[in-house]
Amino acid sequence: MQFSKSIEAFQQAQQSIPGGVNSPVRAFKSVNLNPVFIDCAKGSTVVDIDGNQYTDFVSSWGPLIFGHAHPEIVSAINKAAQKGTSYGAPTLYETEMAELIVEMVPSIEKVRMVNSGTEATMSAIRLARGTTGREKIVKFVGNYHGHGDSFLIKAGSGAITLGLPDSPGVTAGNAKDTLLANYNDLASVEQLFAENGENIAAIIVEPVAGNMGVVLPEKGFLEGLREIATKNGALLIFDEVITGFRLAKGGAQEYFNVMPDITTLGKIIGGGLPVGAYGGKKEIMDQLAPNGPIYQAGTLSGNPLAMAAGSTMLKLIRNTADFYPELERKAKKLEEGIRNNLKETGIKAVLNRVGSMMTLFFTNEEKVSSYEEAMSADTTRYAKYFKLSLESGMYIAPSQFECLFVSYAHSDEDIDNIIAANLNALKELKR
Ligand code: PLP
Repeated sequence: MQFSKSIEAFQQAQQSIPGGVNSPVRAFKSVNLNPVFIDCAKGSTVVDIDGNQYTDFVSSWGPLIFGHAHPEIVSAINKAAQKGTSYGAPTLYETEMAELIVEMVPSIEKVRMVNSGTEATMSAIRLARGTTGREKIVKFVGNYHGHGDSFLIKAGSGAITLGLPDSPGVTAGNAKDTLLANYNDLASVEQLFAENGENIAAIIVEPVAGNMGVVLPEKGFLEGLREIATKNGALLIFDEVITGFRLAKGGAQEYFNVMPDITTLGKIIGGGLPVGAYGGKKEIMDQLAPNGPIYQAGTLSGNPLAMAAGSTMLKLIRNTADFYPELERKAKKLEEGIRNNLKETGIKAVLNRVGSMMTLFFTNEEKVSSYEEAMSADTTRYAKYFKLSLESGMYIAPSQFECLFVSYAHSDEDIDNIIAANLNALKELKR
């Protein structure tokens, strides 16, 4: 493989874009490589500007659960665009989208559309604060909820990948209202409530952590959060920006049967266009302007192209009978393949998977169920693994602390190919 055009493109991009990218992890910094610039993609395949082809397991970081350029989604966007791209006035698209979300996500009775996952979580905590009249929130170390000030405190995703979990520019005033607990550690949450109970508006959590790599909630963890929140008059927010429509039609809340008060969504609901949403019980959502006093707005919120793409995506999911069983089958096949490869090569690693999301941690730990265990992973080894994977045509996340996503567009051959590439890479790592 040669990357000369991507190398040149990156040099040029750096002249006018900070770091050459519009979202940090894209720069491939933690894997010490030049990023590949993408030309086009279809189904499970992406092609870079040098003409190299890859099987894509990043899926635009989650949204593309039906693969790239799905014909029905492209056609819906085209059709909407012919009629105009934005009106700043209500459209039928928005009601259709809201009705689909309300129908599919169990705890959502009303939903407000925004333009990104970050906007969804920022708005959700304002709503929680406005509703409860309290100021503090509890978040988990290593969870990522976008780049809102309140969340860039011991944050996951690109922030840990680049060693920047606490960003300069977040004021001390903001930081003091974010209380930190440890994922899968209910005692740490109990303690925060014992000290600050009257002041805590909400607990916000990724029901499956995806931004320190995939870390599953231990049995009783989500139920425990539900109980603590209810007991203390705080709201429980599930950040389902990754897990929404991925683990089940009704997201992690359906998968684990634990209901939050507010849910944040993003990624899949946009069908590949910029969308976020937050929803919950009517009484809470009706606190938002114009019905209630809590303000939140957006010039492009509910954009017709984004709604057309998103609602087509949700209908595809709803109408594809074998959708979740197929995702599970393919992801399980990949999991088993990698486990066999680990056994064959004797490489020590932990593979965490739930549904179609997984992470292979290069660690000597026996399990990864906490932030500390995730952080024990050998990122230098991951960087080598990433390079070997890329060179064998497998596009995986350029960071140890992200997910590998299986999509409905992946064929059995794609899965066989990545299992073979994984074996080769593991053998190379042994040398
Ligand atoms: N919440 C979670 C769980 C996420 O994984 C992300 C992004 O990866 C966000 C929020 C922020 O979403 P966005 O990047 O669309 O702002």
